[in-house]
Amino acid sequence: MRQIISLALLQALMLIPLKAAPLCAQSPSAKELLDDAAKAMGGLQALKALKNQVIESEGKQFDSSSTSRPGGPTRQISTIRTTLTRDLAQPRLKMGYEGKSLLARQAIPWVEIIDGEVGFLREGAGADAKQSRLHPARLATRMREEKRAAAKIILIALGQKNLRRLADGELDGRPQRVVAFVENGDEFRVYLDAKTKLPSQVEIMEDDPLEGDSRFTLRYSDWRKVDGVMLPFGLRTELNGKPLQEEQIKSVRNNVALAADVFSVPQAIRDQKVDAKPIASQWLLRRVAGNVGYADLGRNPPVEIVPMAEGVYRFQGSSHNTIVVEMRDYLVAVEGPLYEERTAAVVKAIKERFPAKPIRYVIPTHHHLDHAGGIRAFMAEGAIVIVPFVATEFYARVAKAPHTLRPDSLEKKGHAVVIESYGGGYLALTDGNQRVEIYPLPVPHAEDFQVIYLPRAKIMIEADHVSPRGGQVRTAPAVGEFVQAVDKLNLDIQTVAGIHGDSATMQAVRAAAKSGQK
Ligand SMILES: [Zn+2]
Repeated sequence: MRQIISLALLQALMLIPLKAAPLCAQSPSAKELLDDAAKAMGGLQALKALKNQVIESEGKQFDSSSTSRPGGPTRQISTIRTTLTRDLAQPRLKMGYEGKSLLARQAIPWVEIIDGEVGFLREGAGADAKQSRLHPARLATRMREEKRAAAKIILIALGQKNLRRLADGELDGRPQRVVAFVENGDEFRVYLDAKTKLPSQVEIMEDDPLEGDSRFTLRYSDWRKVDGVMLPFGLRTELNGKPLQEEQIKSVRNNVALAADVFSVPQAIRDQKVDAKPIASQWLLRRVAGNVGYADLGRNPPVEIVPMAEGVYRFQGSSHNTIVVEMRDYLVAVEGPLYEERTAAVVKAIKERFPAKPIRYVIPTHHHLDHAGGIRAFMAEGAIVIVPFVATEFYARVAKAPHTLRPDSLEKKGHAVVIESYGGGYLALTDGNQRVEIYPLPVPHAEDFQVIYLPRAKIMIEADHVSPRGGQVRTAPAVGEFVQAVDKLNLDIQTVAGIHGDSATMQAVRAAAKSGQK
């Protein structure tokens, strides 16, 4: 059974009213409101007297993207403990992190040290610890988070020339005054409680690959007085209202006599080259929370074309691939991963390699952030999105999400997107020569999971279960789950091709599944 829906883009643009209400000369002014907030926190002098802080906290991290159901309920992924040493006078900090993952993936302890423009990352503990220069985007993201530290935000806001007052708001039934400023291209919106005058939350307006124009929020709660300054002991970050992290602060020490080398970055690390742009992004923080990679963010994405069989090509990236099947009159692409910058480069490479054929279909393996995040670059090409019924609404939302803050290719082209969904069996595309069969695969990883079978080459394309490296297959429970589910399809599979990694023989996959059971 098939169903085709076509979405006109423009009708949806009004869904999320992100544009602030028109500003009018309200009284009191933005500056006066911030002065009141400083007073409520203990006074400007007391805030300025804070030179450093050592903060210990415990918390939880959440994920609302890599869920089983598309758009499905947010789940907790880890418990965390952090120790943060921040310099309030200079851009320096040290963040120690210990996580306990609730999923199979191990959370690795890490330490970040930032000294101005350069940062240091130690991952792991003891002799196995890995040391590297902190990715410029991770550094930029951390330092942007520092601006929202309660001890800093009022002083930072007061120093902005473009400070303005927005329309009043409400949070949990409490009236809020809202002031905003733009720094480094990011709009910050500071909510101040009308009664207590204390800051309630700070939103940063940011683009998200799937959700579009987004509110990345830090909420403060549990205010307590420390050394004459009011500080929040409850911190919670959210993306569009969905929780990312909750922290309960256990202790705050102000103006500590710090050791001289607390923020020191080894010379060997300083000498390491960096080539990525310093893009501050909530996306990166979510990748760090999930203990997964983000190395290509802000880099020119590498695209290597690897022929796999007649008419089958892997457009390889450093972490995620797109697999292209050449039909007589058109192309079929499997996966638009990561984000616009990655998939747009893949689309460009496909068009250069096959200038005469349109990309007619794009087939995402499942809705997870890193697998679907670039799909809008294919939507912008007019590719029809093929998904199981369960994912129709999800991709319709992705197609309609306004991306005005950082317009991507679909936002710029602004044309209709067609989603073809199916159920009750598999779906096949054929030109009499090459055939592409798309099967829903019932696995715990995602309810909308699909595998793509190419009968001519006997290739099965999959994501996140096998992920072969150099033809080798790891022994993980997911490999067994894959084999069990795929065997029920009764297909003649010779090769398993990963969206991650490369390819392996089905024999090697079976062997790994077997030894994983022992
Ligand atoms: Zn996944």
